[in-house]
Amino acid sequence: MTASTEPREDAPVEDGRVHDAQVIVIGAGPAGAAAGYWLATAGVDVLLLEKSAFPREKVCGDGLTPRGTRALVELGIDVSEQAGWLHNRGLRVIGGGMRLELDWPELATYPNYGLVRPRSDLDQLLVRQAVRAGARLHERTGVTGPIRTPAGRVVGVTAKSGDQELTYRAPIVLACDGVSGRFALSMGLERNRKRPMGVAVRRYYRSPRHNDDYLESWLELWDGDPAADDAKLLPGYGWIFGMGDGSVNVGLGVLNSSAGFQKTNYRTLLTSWLDNTPADWGLREENALGPTQGAGLPMGFNRTPHYRDGVLLVGDAGGSVNPFNGEGIPYAMESGKLAAEAAVQALARPDGPQRERALAGYPAAMRAEWGAYFRLGGVFVKLIGNPKVMRACTRHGLPHPRLMAFVLKLLANLTDPADGDAADRLINALTRITPAVR
Ligand SMILES: Cc1cc2nc3c(=O)[nH]c(=O)nc-3n(C[C@H](O)[C@H](O)[C@H](O)COP(=O)(O)OP(=O)(O)OC[C@H]3O[C@@H](n4cnc5c(N)ncnc54)[C@H](O)[C@@H]3O)c2cc1C
Repeated sequence: MTASTEPREDAPVEDGRVHDAQVIVIGAGPAGAAAGYWLATAGVDVLLLEKSAFPREKVCGDGLTPRGTRALVELGIDVSEQAGWLHNRGLRVIGGGMRLELDWPELATYPNYGLVRPRSDLDQLLVRQAVRAGARLHERTGVTGPIRTPAGRVVGVTAKSGDQELTYRAPIVLACDGVSGRFALSMGLERNRKRPMGVAVRRYYRSPRHNDDYLESWLELWDGDPAADDAKLLPGYGWIFGMGDGSVNVGLGVLNSSAGFQKTNYRTLLTSWLDNTPADWGLREENALGPTQGAGLPMGFNRTPHYRDGVLLVGDAGGSVNPFNGEGIPYAMESGKLAAEAAVQALARPDGPQRERALAGYPAAMRAEWGAYFRLGGVFVKLIGNPKVMRACTRHGLPHPRLMAFVLKLLANLTDPADGDAADRLINALTRITPAVR
C-alpha cells in the first residue's frame, strides 16, 4: 500500500519530526480502518499509524456473519461475488450425531448472507477505503507509548519507524491495536480476568471442500474415534470455512471457562480432530498450507473503561469479541464507528469538560449497544465450559430446528430492533432486562 504514507505537506512539523492530526488511530485493522473511514468522512484530519504494511496476514477464521456483511456495506465496500467475495447462506452445525443447516434469518436490519475473505485481502480493502475517504496512513510505524500532559491526559504518541524515533500529537487517540492491548496496558488498563476470553488456532489446507455455501461449525471435537469407549470430548468448538480458492480455513477455539484452557496444546488438538475427519476432505499434513497459528479472543468487554484520559479503546483492544460465537470483525468495525462519532462531536467542543462529556459518550454507546448482550454471553460461556452442559445442549437442542433458528439469532446477534418475529422480541426483551457490563 503506498497511498498517503507521508505526512501531509500542510501538517505542522516540529523538529522535522512531529506530525499533528486531530485524531491519531493506533492500528489499522478493521477497528482502526473503520474509525479512520468515519472520521475522514466527517472531515476530520485523522492519522492511522500501523506497525506492519498492507497486505499483511492476520490470524483469523476469515468468516463473516450477516452482521459483518452489513458493516462492510456501510463502509461502501463492494461485497458482490464479482468483487471476489465468497457468499454463504448460513451455518452448518455438527454435533450430537446431527448435522443441521441453518439459514441466516430474514431481517430488515441485516442481509441474509455472510461472507468469507482472507484477512490479508479484507484488511487491505478496509484500509484503502479509509485512505480513499481522506485518512492518512503511516505504515511500518509502531506506536511505543503515550505522550501525556503533567495532569496525565494523553496528547499524542511516541512511535518507531525503522530506527527513527517519532512523536505524533493529537487531542484524541484511538487505541485499535488489537488483542495485546499494549497501548491500554501502558496506561494501566489491565484485562479483567473475570470476563470471558478465548484462544483460537487456525490453519489453511488444500481441500475439495473449498466451495461451501455454509460456514461449518463443530460443537463436539473428539480425540479419537467418537464411537470408541476411550474417545475424549475435547473442550472446544471447531470450524471449517471454505475459502473458494481451493483451500479451507480450519480452526478451533477454547474458552477460559473450560477445564482445558491454557493447559491444552491447541495445535495438537486441531490435528487430532482433523485426523478423524474423512480422508477425502484432505485435512492432513501433506495438504497443509503454512503453519498452525493462534491468538487470543478478548470477549465481553474484558478491558474497560473504554475511555480514559483522551484515549478510546476500540475493537479487540476494548475486548469487543462476541462471547457467544467468537466473532470479532463486525464488532471491531462497529465500535470504530461509535468511537469516530464520539470523537467528531468532541472536536466540535472546546477542550475541557464539554469535550470530555462528548468522549464519555463512547463507553456509554458501547454499553447501550452490547453491554447487556455481552453479559448474557458471559453466562453462556460459563455454562458451556462444563462439557456436560455442552453435551446436553447439542444432544437436546440440535434435534429441534425451530429452537436452533432461535439459537442462531441469539448467538450471532441478529435481530430486528422493532417489528421482528417472536424470537427477536424474546432476545430483545432479554437484553432489555439484563444489566449491562460496565
Ligand atoms: C484464530 C482466530 C480466528 C478468528 N476468526 C474470526 C472469524 O472468523 N470472524 C470474526 O469476525 N472474527 C474472528 N476472529 C476475531 C478477529 O480476528 C478480531 O476480533 C479482529 O481482528 C479485531 O479487529 P481489530 O481491528 O480490533 O484488531 P486487529 O485485527 O488485531 O488489528 C490490530 C492492528 O493494529 C496493529 N498494531 C498492533 N500494535 C500496534 C502498534 N503498537 N502500533 C501500530 N500498530 C499496531 C496490528 O498490526 C493490526 O494491524 C478470530 C480470531 C482468532 C485469533
